[in-house]
Amino acid sequence: MSYVIEGKTGSWEIVVGLEVHAQVVSNSKLFSGASTTFGAGPNSQVSLVDAAFPGMLPVINKECVAQAVRTGLGLNARINLESRFDRKNYFYADLPQGYQISQFAHPIVGEGTIEIELSSGEIRKIGITRLHMEQDAGKLIHDQDPTKSMIDLNRAGVALMEIVSEPDIREPEEAGAYLRKMRQILRYLGTCDGNMEEGSMRADVNVSVRKAGEPFRTRCEIKNVNSIRFVMQAIEVEAARQVEIWESGGEVDQETRLFDAARGETRTMRSKEDAHDYRYFPDPDLLPLVIEQAWVDQLKAALPELPDAKRARFQSEYGIPFYDAGVLVAEQAVADFYETVAKGRDGKLAVSWVTGDLFAALNRTSKTIETSPVSAEALGQMLDLIADGTINGKIAKEVFEDMVETGEGPDAIVEKKGLRQVTDTGVIDTAIESVMTKHADKVAQYRSGKDKLFGFFVGQVMKETKGKANPALVNDALKSKLDA
Ligand code: ADP
Ligand code: MG
Repeated sequence: MSYVIEGKTGSWEIVVGLEVHAQVVSNSKLFSGASTTFGAGPNSQVSLVDAAFPGMLPVINKECVAQAVRTGLGLNARINLESRFDRKNYFYADLPQGYQISQFAHPIVGEGTIEIELSSGEIRKIGITRLHMEQDAGKLIHDQDPTKSMIDLNRAGVALMEIVSEPDIREPEEAGAYLRKMRQILRYLGTCDGNMEEGSMRADVNVSVRKAGEPFRTRCEIKNVNSIRFVMQAIEVEAARQVEIWESGGEVDQETRLFDAARGETRTMRSKEDAHDYRYFPDPDLLPLVIEQAWVDQLKAALPELPDAKRARFQSEYGIPFYDAGVLVAEQAVADFYETVAKGRDGKLAVSWVTGDLFAALNRTSKTIETSPVSAEALGQMLDLIADGTINGKIAKEVFEDMVETGEGPDAIVEKKGLRQVTDTGVIDTAIESVMTKHADKVAQYRSGKDKLFGFFVGQVMKETKGKANPALVNDALKSKLDA
């Protein structure tokens, strides 16, 4: 492995496993009909089930189950046709039931894999251990009153998927790539919006260190890290902390820690509980969850094309490089935009306009692909104007900037500004003659062997025609006139 920590006693390797909590996209909660809309007034979306009133019974939401199955399929994982719900017992103010309904011994999704790409271009496979469904808790609010804490139960009972990885990750960069890929797949599937700032995707980071070839050592779990950058930082500082403990003759305790981004350190939160501390037992209010293979097959057939498949197809269908295809599929909206532009046109030219000029324009105007001032159709029409010789590549840049500014179509701009390419050889010849007269000295130099001046003449002729001359025609005509 390339990434090691050099300690006093030699090199150490990092071992990381990630648990991703992904909020399921669904209209209502996992076991109640209450709405899941984000940003509603506090406690306005709480059913009696979510508030854990005595005697209320949970009823499974089929759409949440479908979302978990779709996610499992997207992670190339085994779908378990029979799974079970357990109670995970613990006391916390944001958990009115006193337990969380989760899946412990029998999750709905088993082993899978995810492929990640490192900045070196290397592809690695990370194992998925399992995916299970569980309820989210409510939210405590401490900054509304100087003496009291408030509670908002809107989130209580919302469906979460916990996606657990194998301890296959060996460096911070891999952890970042894994989370980005996970988020990309979830977004393509439409099963989680992947928004880490709003907390709809969060990660628990398990870290240990070892000398090469050794068995795994004790891990620490860093809870609820809410950005990819923080996950990578947390791994780095936590691994360094553990190396120092081992090297000074101490022992790493298995515990739950917090990452403090401001101080760049991890701190003890609580010593790690084991499964038996939660006294898991099957929830007596819920039957085992049994689904049919035919239904799974149906969901599979309806899955959208996922990023890896789309990337491979873009490469072969549009003849573009692996790297460019990766940039395009990073976001589904960008991939769709590109495909509208590229269909039936020059795929390579399309990718250079989308990832070059368009991305730069979006950046400059603080727009996104969804709010782009230039539509995919309009950009496609502009490429057609290049292809049929109406404008040349240089004038296209001017047309494009005008499109960004005015939102007008390329045809209208070409007409309005009179940017039609000059292909009339008479006009081009006149321009060439005028340039040759103005620069008679340079013509003489060129003719006595200074070939490099050819570019200068091309530039002058283009200037004379306000950039509108067809460059190929200019080249040909110049050659024959200068060499005459
Ligand atoms: P828990 O509920 O105790 O957090 P899980 O099984 O849900 O346990 O998750 C354990 C996570 O820790 C997995 O992602 C796994 O890959 C990771 N893990 C297990 N052993 C180690 C280790 N020695 N070092 C780092 N990560 C580990
Ligand atoms: Mg866990």
